[in-house]
This record gives sequence, C-alpha cells and structure tokens, in this order.
Amino acid sequence: STVWSEMPMGPPDPILGLTEAFNKDTDPRKVSLGVGAYRGDDGKPLVLDTVRKAEKIMLEKALNHEYAGIVGLPDFTKLSLAFAYGKNADVLKERRVAGVQTLSGTGACRVMGELMARFRGQGTPIYVPNPTWGNHIPIFKNSGLEVRKYRYYDPKTVGLDFQGLLSDVQAAEDDSLFLLHACAHNPTGVDPTREQWAELSKLMKAKKHTVFFDCAYQGFASGDSEKDAWAIRRFVDDGHCIALAQSFAKNFGLYGERIGALSVVCNDADEAARVTSQLKLVIRPMYSNPPIYGARLVTEVLSDPALTQEWSAECKAMADRIISMRTELRSCLERLGSKRSWEHITSQIGMFCYTGLTTEEVLKIRGDAHIYFTNDGRISMAGVTTSNVEYIAKSIFTVTG
Ligand code: PLP
Repeated sequence: STVWSEMPMGPPDPILGLTEAFNKDTDPRKVSLGVGAYRGDDGKPLVLDTVRKAEKIMLEKALNHEYAGIVGLPDFTKLSLAFAYGKNADVLKERRVAGVQTLSGTGACRVMGELMARFRGQGTPIYVPNPTWGNHIPIFKNSGLEVRKYRYYDPKTVGLDFQGLLSDVQAAEDDSLFLLHACAHNPTGVDPTREQWAELSKLMKAKKHTVFFDCAYQGFASGDSEKDAWAIRRFVDDGHCIALAQSFAKNFGLYGERIGALSVVCNDADEAARVTSQLKLVIRPMYSNPPIYGARLVTEVLSDPALTQEWSAECKAMADRIISMRTELRSCLERLGSKRSWEHITSQIGMFCYTGLTTEEVLKIRGDAHIYFTNDGRISMAGVTTSNVEYIAKSIFTVTG
C-alpha cells in the first residue's frame, strides 16, 4: 500500500459541494442558490462593462507577465486602501497602514491568521460571530488559532443579538482578537446599526481588543461603497489599530481572479514598515507572490475617476437588483398566504438571505423542488431572478405553509 491508498474520502465542502450536486441534477426546474456569486436577471454570470473596458486598456498596453513582488502591485494596494479607508484618510496620509495584495479575501484572512499565530502564539483565540462565513473556521484553525464564537444572530428575532454580542465582547479576556464582518454579514445579512457600531467600537477600545474586519462586500451591500465602509472608518476614527481583509470578488465581479488585500493600521510609518516585513515573511513561503491580472484590472478602474464612477453605477445596479428580488420574494410569499413573517428578507442586506428555514425544510425543498441552498437556510439572493422567484417562493411555501 502507498500513502495514497490509505487516504479516506473527505467530506464535500458545504458550499462548493452543493454546486457539484446541482451540476449533476438533470431536473429542468433546478435552481442554484448556494454559492455567493452574482447573476444577472438572465441567471448568467455578469462581467461588468468597466471590467471589460479595463481589459481592453490592458491589452493595448501589451504588458509583460513578470512576477509581482511578494506584496503584489503597489499601485493596486494603494488604491485598495483608499477605497476602504477613504481617499483623504489621515492614516493613509501619515503612511501608517501596512498593506499587501492577497489571494482575495480568503487569502487575506489566512495571512492574518498566520501572522497572529506567529506573534501571539499557536492556539491564540480568535472570536468570530455565531454564525459566520463557514470557511472562517477552518481558515483560522489551520492558521494555528483557536476559534471561539461570540453571540451575533438571534433566531427568535431573526436579527442581531446586540446585548449578547456586547456581553461576549465584555467577557473575553482583555486584548483579544475579534473578527467583525464590515458590512453585509455572511450568512445572516444582519448588520449592526451605526449607533450599535459606535457602541461596539467604544467597548472594543475599553477592552483593548484587536479588531479584524473582513470586508467582502464593499459597495455590494447598499450599492454605495463609501456607505459600506462606514464601520471600518468609524473604528479607525476611534483610534483602533484595525486589521482589514478586502475582497474584490463580489463588488468587481472578479471571483476567479483572486484579488484582495490585507492591511494593518499601525501607530506610525516605522511600525507599518515592520509589520509589512513580517507579512512578507508569511507570504513568501506560502505562495511567493500573488497573481497580477485582477490587480491590474482593479487598478485601471480605480485610478480613472470616470471609470470609477461608471463602476460605482454598475455595482449599485447589482445591489439594486438583489434588493428588488428581496422585495419580490417576500411579497410572493405573502401573496401565497404564508403564515410566517418574511420581513427579515427585506431587512437583511447583501448577497444572502438567512431564511430561518430548518435543515429539514432545506433538504425537503432540495429534494422536491431541486432548489439548492445551504443546510443552514442561507439563500444566495444573487441567484434569484424575475423568472424563478415565484417558483422559489411557492417551493418554500409548500414546505413551510
Ligand atoms: N469573507 C466573507 C465574509 C465572505 O463572504 C467571503 C466570500 O464568500 C470571503 C471572505 C472570501 O471570498 P474571496 O476569497 O472569494 O474573496
């Protein structure tokens, strides 16, 4: 026997495994609402016009394919930080943000996890919301951290358990590491209000916690990328030395290009240089340096004010389509006479709707109607269209009454 023949079959990924099952399904009615990837109303993946334009510009430049540095393309990182922290952010003017290009948001989370395990020690706790994006847990575990959960979602109200959240932040040992979703919390679509963010920031500060924002949906949540960066900017204004993971997968539709950034707000430029040097030491043996294609695309768009404005309108159109599908799905269910409240469909924000459906109901809908979404009842609103919304609503109604 070989080392390979001893290997047991691993379980399928809870989200990507769903796509595999969907692809195998031959029923013509099948609907895929699993993966968080945007679809147009025609149900097809969308390439933004601004991205197409940027591709054309790049092609004309006849660029080479040399390696990027360990930290990626500096122009991209600079624009990415301005996008999140604000063009005129003091922390950027003071050059005290360490920033590196990463393999999208996932890569940013992993690099941060590795850095924390290295400098805080193996087994250092990281507090993540309950629930959180499923991949957070193995990402941080595999980095060597211990994943602990703080209260976030309240199934009774299908909303935020703000008091539970505050209590858990308070109860954690001082100087702990907390992960927060910057906007459009995945999977619940439930975000704190501005007042709640401000209160949370104050408490995090009093507790001397390190806050790590994961920002995978800037612009995608409300349709306004400035608005969606509000929490990040508020924490920075309050004096937090935050870390931040950014992804350009959803807002630019660049999923497969693996383009994102990791940054750390430091006390001064010298500290930022030291942090950058350590980030390089994490990255170099892991993947050497990041891919350049997506970084070049985002750079073309964000360095040209006219293209940026056009992008902003396209991003808003995606967000608006999702918001209108939320309204449509809710009113379909109400028209059918559902006894449940579906108000949360429209109050939640971002790509996902946390329906409150039980795993049993989810499996029944999958079996009977061939509609695929995760066992926790999370629907990717991006897959809902004017042609399937009624079918989805009817299928939910049949199971829930
Ligand atoms: N973080 C959150 C909260 C997400 O929802 C996602 C994607 O679903 C990511 C990070 C990472 O996505 P990517 O690695 O494609 O940027």
